[in-house]
Amino acid sequence: MLINRDTIIKDDNPLIRQKSEDVKLPLSKEDEDLLRALLQYVEDSTDEKKAEEMNLQPAVGISAIQVGIPKKLTAVIVNEVDKNDKPVTYKYMLVNPRIISSSLQQAYLSSGEGCLSVADSHEGYILRSARIKVKAFDLVSNKEIEIRARDYLAIVLQHEIDHFSGTLFYDHINQDDPFFAPQDAKEI
Ligand SMILES: [Zn+2]
Repeated sequence: MLINRDTIIKDDNPLIRQKSEDVKLPLSKEDEDLLRALLQYVEDSTDEKKAEEMNLQPAVGISAIQVGIPKKLTAVIVNEVDKNDKPVTYKYMLVNPRIISSSLQQAYLSSGEGCLSVADSHEGYILRSARIKVKAFDLVSNKEIEIRARDYLAIVLQHEIDHFSGTLFYDHINQDDPFFAPQDAKEI
């Protein structure tokens, strides 16, 4: 499957609002190939040379619906630093990820969010849970996993899981006060 700037569907396509279906495990060859292609996209998109050659927009995550397939599949690569300030890469190919708990405390990106499927700019904060627990089957480790995510990773996972219900980041922007944030919310 060719995934690039031209084939990723945008928010002017009603398909982006479609709800995604659970995926059967063990994965069919077709679903596995798709999930691997999604991860490959994220990997290639952050390589400057490849991104230019292959017409890729850099991304930390992409979900199947963004290539027009309404299935709960998403790939994420997030580079972060851990509690001890050591660089760590979180790389997942998730099947049927679901949030099983979320903190009351919220977090938001000071620069707002972006999305491969959103071309226009939408300014404002997107308040999400600062910490979440996600259960999923992960094809990178090839097992059922529980992810305890915080801060940036938590935001990325919530953004991707939102795609399964047809929700886009700007749906969360407070129309009356786009830059409102509760006092205890964590700015990232
Ligand atoms: Zn997105």
